[in-house]
Amino acid sequence: MQPKGAFHITVILHNVLASAEIGRLLGYLHKSRRGWAFTGAGVSTPSGIPDFRGPDGLWRKYDPERVSTIEAFEKRPEEFFSFWMHRFELMRKAEPNEVHRMLARLEELGYLKGVITQNIDGLHRKAGSKTVLEIHGNAWTGTCRGCGRKYELEWMAERVREEGVARCGCGALVKPDVVLFGEQLTPAFDRAWEEVRRCDLLFVLGSSLQVWPAAELVPLAARNGATVIIANRDPTPYDDLADLVIRGELAELARKVLRCLEKEGT
Ligand code: NAD
Repeated sequence: MQPKGAFHITVILHNVLASAEIGRLLGYLHKSRRGWAFTGAGVSTPSGIPDFRGPDGLWRKYDPERVSTIEAFEKRPEEFFSFWMHRFELMRKAEPNEVHRMLARLEELGYLKGVITQNIDGLHRKAGSKTVLEIHGNAWTGTCRGCGRKYELEWMAERVREEGVARCGCGALVKPDVVLFGEQLTPAFDRAWEEVRRCDLLFVLGSSLQVWPAAELVPLAARNGATVIIANRDPTPYDDLADLVIRGELAELARKVLRCLEKEGT
């Protein structure tokens, strides 16, 4: 068994190292002029929205090929809607957490130009981020596949509750405005690509970096000489490219950063 004293030393060392990491993170942010955040599902797990590949991730319970592809939407719309509308309801009720707030504050203070997100939950905007590039779309609206008419999430949810699918007056299905596997990315991805090509810092948070082509933004930033910071609980395939890897709970990291920013401001 570890002696009690040794445990205390470990905790103290851990705290000192953690503060050193925050110091380096803030140092990089201070130096950058064109910094962007790049976020994934891990920034929203503290808001109660499960990620895909974490320990409670959805892919441990569902087969993505069955529920998240454009083929699934077209061939098995009832199953698609029953899975997704439940998740959208969760997103509708969720509130932003410290991580979203930290990123909004970093933008407000001029440390970041904005957030590029793979998330579809809209929580960055709800937290006050102004420039948000939603490269996988968002869950708040849907578009008719036949006539192109736009619908709100509320409307889709009601249709699904009553009929099992969301169908437009013209008879065609209404697809939520999220990018499914097998679909083209949104025009926001082209903008994100351009911004990352020119950025001098990319702060990656809460992504396994396993979804393509989104993950490609990280090697792109590194190739162009930007500082790359990866904050995630689990290792990612691009940790070796990063100037700084911060392993651990994002909400805790965000609380510490927010405290430092508060002190700076006083
Ligand atoms: P992912 O599930 O593949 O990876 C999430 C990563 O975040 C994991 O590596 C996990 O270790 C880490 N993580 C989770 N909670 C954390 C926490 N509290 N602190 C630190 N790290 C934490 O997610 P991804 O890389 O974003 O790719 C999945 C795709 O699924 C994305 O394209 C996204 O559009 C979509 N998605 C979106 C949402 C959402 O909008 N909230 C939720 C799930 C999935």
